[in-house]
Amino acid sequence: MSSAYDLIVIGGGSGGLAAAQRAAGYGARAVIIESGRLGGTCVNVGCVPKKVMWNAAQIAHALQDAPEYGFDARTAGHDWASLKQKRDAYILRLNGIYERNLGNRKVQLVRGHGRLVAPGEVEVNGQRLRGERVLIATGGRPWRPDIPGAELGIDSDGFFELEQRPQRVTIVGGGYIAVEIAGVFAALGSQVTLLVRSERLLRGFDLSLAEGALESLRESGVEVLLHAPPAALSREADGIHVQIADGRVLGGQDALIWAVGRQPLSDCIAPAVGLALDAEDYIPTDRFQGTQVKGLFAIGDVTGRAQLTPVAIAAGRRLADRLWGGMAGRHLDYDNVPTVIFSHPPIGTVGLSEEEARARHGDQVQVYTSDFVPMYHAMTTAKPKTRMKLVTLGNERKVIGVHVLGPGADEMLQGFAVAVRMGATKQDFDDTVAIHPTSSEELVTMR
Ligand code: NDP
Repeated sequence: MSSAYDLIVIGGGSGGLAAAQRAAGYGARAVIIESGRLGGTCVNVGCVPKKVMWNAAQIAHALQDAPEYGFDARTAGHDWASLKQKRDAYILRLNGIYERNLGNRKVQLVRGHGRLVAPGEVEVNGQRLRGERVLIATGGRPWRPDIPGAELGIDSDGFFELEQRPQRVTIVGGGYIAVEIAGVFAALGSQVTLLVRSERLLRGFDLSLAEGALESLRESGVEVLLHAPPAALSREADGIHVQIADGRVLGGQDALIWAVGRQPLSDCIAPAVGLALDAEDYIPTDRFQGTQVKGLFAIGDVTGRAQLTPVAIAAGRRLADRLWGGMAGRHLDYDNVPTVIFSHPPIGTVGLSEEEARARHGDQVQVYTSDFVPMYHAMTTAKPKTRMKLVTLGNERKVIGVHVLGPGADEMLQGFAVAVRMGATKQDFDDTVAIHPTSSEELVTMR
C-alpha cells in the first residue's frame, strides 16, 4: 500500500508540532491533525498562561516589599479581568504564529479529530489518511475523583477561564498545579485553602523542597490541610461546601479547583490497531518512542513519562532526527530532566532526590545543604529562607541531584542541569568561581 504521508501526527501540541516540523525539515511529507487550538495544553491552558499569572504574583510580592526598599508604592488593587484579556490575546497571537510556522515549514494541518483505525491509517473528518509512520501526541486532560458534587469544582482548564478572581478558594491536590495555583491566588489576594490527601506536598521531590514549599505557602497565608481529601461537595447559599473525609466541613467557597493529576488522551486508537495500553491508559513506549505496533510511535504526556513540555519536544525532535535525519540511535534520555515548580519562591530541581539516591545507593550517598536568607530579604521584615541541596555519589562525589527553593531557582537550574548531565563532581562545583553576590554562588561554595 502506498502512503500519502511519511508522517501523520495526531495532536498539535508542543510535542507533535516539534516532531512534524523537524521531520518536514528533513524532507518528510508530514501532516498534523488537531481539533483544538494549536499549541496544546502548554500554550493554551498550561505553562504559558500560568507563567503570566506567576509573573503577576511576583509583582504582587515585589509591591509588598517595595516600601521596605524605600518606595512609596500604593496600588489600587489588581484587575484580574483585564490581565486575563491581555493574556488571552497573547495566546491567540501564539496560536497564529504556530499555524504560520507550520505553513512555512511545509507541514500540512488538518482540522478535526484523528482516529487511528488500523496501523498506518488515520481517519479524520470521514477521510482516511495513510502514513508510513504515525505519531500519537495527544497529551492528556485534567482528571477529577468520582465523589458527590465533584462537578461543582473546576480544573486547571477552568482556572484559565475565570473572568474574576474568586475571593475564597479551595484547591485540592499537592502537586505542581495545586502549589502553583495556590501561590498565584494567595499573592493576588484570595483566601486560599489547600487540601492535601497525604502527609506531604510534592511527593517524588526532595523532602527539603516539599517542606520548604509548605512553609512558604503557609507564610503567604495559604491554609494547608494535610491528610484532608475531600469526600463530597455541595452548593449552599453561601457558596460551595467541602466535606473533608475526616468529617470537617469548609463552607462558603467561591470556587474549588481540582489539581489531582491528569489522564492520557489515548482513546483515539481503535482496537483493530492491536495496541495494548497500560493500566492507567498510557501508551507504553520503548527508548525510541516506539510502541508494540510497527510504524506507530508516541511522545509526550500520553506516554506517561515525565509530563513536561520540553520532554515532549525533545522526544519528538529526536525521533525525527533518527527516522529522517540519519541519526541512528538518537533518542531522549529521561534521566536528569530538570524541572521547575513556579511557586513563590520557585523550586528548581534536577536528578535524584536524597530519598531516591539513598534507596538506590545507600551509604554511597553524601549530601550537602545550605539554608540561608537571601540578600534581597536583608531589607525586608519577612525573612524567608532559600534551601539548597546537592546529592553526591561515591568517593568521586559525582553530583546526582541539585535541589533549590528560593528566588531565582527557576533560572538557576538550567545551567546546573548541564553540569549534572555532563557528570560534574562536587570538586568541579567547588572549582568553579562564584558569582557574587548571588544565591546561586552557594551551590559552588558548599561545605
Ligand atoms: P501531580 O501529579 O503533580 O500531582 C497530583 C496531586 O494530586 C498529588 O499531590 C496527589 O497526591 C494528589 N491526588 C491524586 N489523587 C487525589 C485524590 N483522589 N484526592 C486528593 N488528592 C489527590 O499532578 P498535577 O495535576 O499537579 O499536574 C499534572 C502534571 O502536569 C504534573 O505531573 C507535571 O508533570 C505537569 N505540570 C508541570 C508544571 C511545570 O513544569 N511547572 C506545572 C503544572 C503541571 P499524592 O502525592 O498523595 O499522590
